[in-house]
Amino acid sequence: MGFVKIAKRCLSTRKLYLPRVCIVGAGPAGFYAAMHLHKKMNGVHIDIIEQLPVPFGLVRYGVAPDHPEVKNVINQFTKFAQQENVNFYGNISLGRDIRLQQLREHYDAVLLSYGAEEDKTLGIENEDANNVLGARSFVGWYNGHPRFRDMKVDLSGSTAAILGQGNVALDVSRILLSPVDALRKTDITDYALQSISESKIRELYLVGRRGPLQVAFTIKELREQLKLDKCKTVWREKDFEGIAATVNDLPRPRKRLTELMLKSLSEMDSTATDSDHKLFKPIFFRSPQAFLIDDNKKVTGVELICNKLVGNSIEDQRCVPTRDTERLNCDLVFRSIGYKSVNVDNDLKFTSGVVKNDKGKVDISNDNLAPVFVAGWLGTGPVGVLLHTMGNAFQVAKLMCENLKEVDTFKGGMEEIKKMMTKPSNEIIEWSGWEKIDKYEIEQGNKVGKPREKVTSVPKMIEIANM
Ligand code: FAD
Ligand code: NAP
Repeated sequence: MGFVKIAKRCLSTRKLYLPRVCIVGAGPAGFYAAMHLHKKMNGVHIDIIEQLPVPFGLVRYGVAPDHPEVKNVINQFTKFAQQENVNFYGNISLGRDIRLQQLREHYDAVLLSYGAEEDKTLGIENEDANNVLGARSFVGWYNGHPRFRDMKVDLSGSTAAILGQGNVALDVSRILLSPVDALRKTDITDYALQSISESKIRELYLVGRRGPLQVAFTIKELREQLKLDKCKTVWREKDFEGIAATVNDLPRPRKRLTELMLKSLSEMDSTATDSDHKLFKPIFFRSPQAFLIDDNKKVTGVELICNKLVGNSIEDQRCVPTRDTERLNCDLVFRSIGYKSVNVDNDLKFTSGVVKNDKGKVDISNDNLAPVFVAGWLGTGPVGVLLHTMGNAFQVAKLMCENLKEVDTFKGGMEEIKKMMTKPSNEIIEWSGWEKIDKYEIEQGNKVGKPREKVTSVPKMIEIANM
């Protein structure tokens, strides 16, 4: 019976169906939204599609290996994914294997939660030089993301600079400056561990375009960095002129963070020259203007513009360039100025780097097809910790529940979608396939005293899932 006939029959008898929802992206936003839908909408059928054969997004490929407690959320997602009405279909990419319109034709609602897959760039001279890396790629590399496993990371020089002062910058800094033994029992990939154990990096600059009162990192992460074994922090005293006088007027989290920086500054032992120690050197009021390179197009330094701040409210103060510049010599640079979402389907409109939406409902043409929603970093922008992502996902899922009260046409869901894809069925990895990969990784890790050794190649993942 044709689609129109079924729909007509349903309308006449008011037969209602259990809604079918497709979620694109198996990161925290996708899982949290699915959990809320499942809780609030009895019997809803949820299919989660994911570009990689494995789930969990940035919890697997972003969160630092030395933060295992953050990854515990995976246990909650795993328990949820084992429900009968929830399916995982890995190795299906929106834009590559399937179009949004096709999903809208065969589901009652589509939730996009495919995150932020690129990084922002500075747009300055020689940004493509050798040894200028995106922090996102480096994080993906040490965490075993298939896209970055073959990336060349040259840690043979003595000095590195990180541009940006957010928590990603501090993750990168900590991984580079930690004693390697602290990483051996984590799930960091074996090749990254090997490379870091041979690293010659001794000095690391953390460069901020604004001042100590505007840093984007948070207190817990700074404290961890300051406490690193065999690592000294060296602040520039001049950067803190006038800061102590403002502390008491700051809102509480900012006050505590600033007090910690001031305390560390006051305890700084700048005379010590212990060659056994690595150096962590935050510097402020400096914007990168150009990367300096040698004849082989390898970075040798960064030209920095000295800034001053304008504006009244501390959070919103902007930096404006002065005429002064400064050269920072270094062998390796990480750009850590934020992630960026990509438009993978022509039907989507983007505004300010996110899918155009109203509280999660996507502004999209063709009302006859299923409505589209967006949650997580794709809808909010690439900011916020898991707790924020969870709050956003719950709120968008609530909106979906309100929109999905009555479903009176039958949608074929994944059965129909599979017919449209050219991908062989054994390359679509379901939850049972991921469970085999998971088991394999844990077994490999246990052999060397790690919680897991990640499989980093997609063909290998597919092979294991089909064993
Ligand atoms: P993601 O986690 O990125 O998930 C998106 C998913 O969509 C991915 O699985 C991706 O593979 C998939 N996808 C992408 N494109 C497609 C496509 N075309 N088709 C199908 N699927 C696709 N928060 C904390 O609370 N604690 C931490 O310690 C912490 N550490 C972090 C470390 C780093 C380096 C970063 C970048 C973030 C960290 N966060 C941390 C923040 C946290 O990771 C985010 O809040 C959260 O992951 C955002 O979730 P999301 O689902 O929107 O995106
Ligand atoms: P972020 O917190 O937004 O920090 C970006 C940094 O880059 C800021 O210092 C910003 O300075 C700077 N920057 C931006 N554009 C710049 C430019 N053109 N030139 C120079 N500097 C520039 O981003 P993130 O570090 O990528 O982190 C993303 C989110 O993930 C954050 O919410 C973070 O808390 C979260 N996260 C959490 C953890 C954790 O909990 N342990 C770990 C990693 C990430 P301005 O302030 O001047 O713009």
